[in-house]
Amino acid sequence: MSAHSTESGWTTRIGLEVHVRLATRSKLLCSCPNRFETEPNLHICPVCTGQPGSLPALGKGAVLLALRAATRLDFEVNPKSRFDRKHYFYPDLPKGYQVTQEAHPLGRNGSLSIETPGRRVEVPLRRIHIEEDAGRSVHTETCTQVDCNRAGTPLVEIVTDPVLESAEEVAAFLRRLREELRFAGVTDGDMDKGSLRADVNVSVHRVEGGQDRGGVRVEIKNLNSIRYATDAVAFEITRQVEAYESRPAGAAFPGGAETRRFVPQTATKPAHTVLLRRKEGALDYRFLEDPDLAPLLLSQTEIEAVRAELPDGPLALRDRWRLTFDLSLYDTEVLTQTPERAAYFLAVLARLGSPDASLAKATANWITNDLLAIEGGLGIVPPAKVAELVTMLAKDQISHKGARTLLAALVRAISLGQGQDLGQLSDELGLLQSKAPADLDAWVAEAIAARPDAVEAWHAGREQAVDALVGAAMAASQGKASPGHLRDVLTAALRDHGPED
Ligand SMILES: [Zn+2]
Repeated sequence: MSAHSTESGWTTRIGLEVHVRLATRSKLLCSCPNRFETEPNLHICPVCTGQPGSLPALGKGAVLLALRAATRLDFEVNPKSRFDRKHYFYPDLPKGYQVTQEAHPLGRNGSLSIETPGRRVEVPLRRIHIEEDAGRSVHTETCTQVDCNRAGTPLVEIVTDPVLESAEEVAAFLRRLREELRFAGVTDGDMDKGSLRADVNVSVHRVEGGQDRGGVRVEIKNLNSIRYATDAVAFEITRQVEAYESRPAGAAFPGGAETRRFVPQTATKPAHTVLLRRKEGALDYRFLEDPDLAPLLLSQTEIEAVRAELPDGPLALRDRWRLTFDLSLYDTEVLTQTPERAAYFLAVLARLGSPDASLAKATANWITNDLLAIEGGLGIVPPAKVAELVTMLAKDQISHKGARTLLAALVRAISLGQGQDLGQLSDELGLLQSKAPADLDAWVAEAIAARPDAVEAWHAGREQAVDALVGAAMAASQGKASPGHLRDVLTAALRDHGPED
């Protein structure tokens, strides 16, 4: 919430309507591919272009993913939901109506918890329903063209109660929603491609003389990035408070319910919203139950089966990894940023058998520090190789520095299609550490000879002088011994040979 609004006693209420594209293979009511980033009008048929006499058939894939979304977000799933036609005219809506679920949606009363530095909120979700997307109008300089590839692609719409209070909470909500639905395999969540779009309703309120001087609801449509949603809400809160406070004494709240369009920040102008239209009255969409589509019937057994097969969500994984492996919050957040990352971490753990906390931590570190630093690293290096690397380190077969060199060599070998045996690679590069007593003794002797000052200091009681000797022995071994082994051998050697008189 902006400082402005709290200082002057304003509160903000924000509700969201989020459209989520379902990651199905085909469209909602026909078998055309659910792909629209191609040549225009490549994926169309009589059904999705509304030709007379064509009949829709509801796709099972879309129902399954919508049901996954509903169960993941704790909705009460309606055993019998229905499809309605929402009529309006638009050039990219060839049927003249959109199939949606108005009166009997798939689910009601869901919830999603969010946390910002300010507060933790359990956000009530009013409803979730299945609907189809419209086509796209492509505006050129001379004309407008219609591309129907997107017409009929499957969406769910999720509607929240107006309980959010700031731009930060809107961002937190959209992030949480996107990650839960991505981990449930419902959507790719790619906002750049319009896979998640939000309509935001913002109003400001202040109690005056015991009455809620409720501001009027302003809707900003079609925000396709979290940054845009945040900027739009921040701007709208300030704009509405200023409009209210600058009104002549005794005048009513300025303006009525409005729909506004968001204009992103440019080099010369900050982000803002502009008026699209005033809502003089509710638009009449002439909702009509679709006579071509049977009601969607779902048994309790079917609903529970979908719920039971849901993979762990990001919050559950973060909590479990912090508890079981004592991973830092930061590490768990990096590892759960995408489902692919989380799956990769789990795949390495699976190959380590039942790893203890130190192995799991080492794995997390290798992924977050090293593999993610390599472009496409997780796609290049198989999880089994990371498990092997972590094991070699844990067994002191290789130093940390050596392991980095080995990883780089492995990536190179993979890109060249060469041998990828880690034992062989580290042998070729001379990275294997020796535990042979003869080797260790020789390096320790070299260190003792090289640093008589440190030997003398150690005998004089300065125990930390051993560090200098470990360093010298490491140098003598050229990285082929572990500092731990050298320290043990060194300490024994110093004890055996008393100070020289
Ligand atoms: Zn089609």
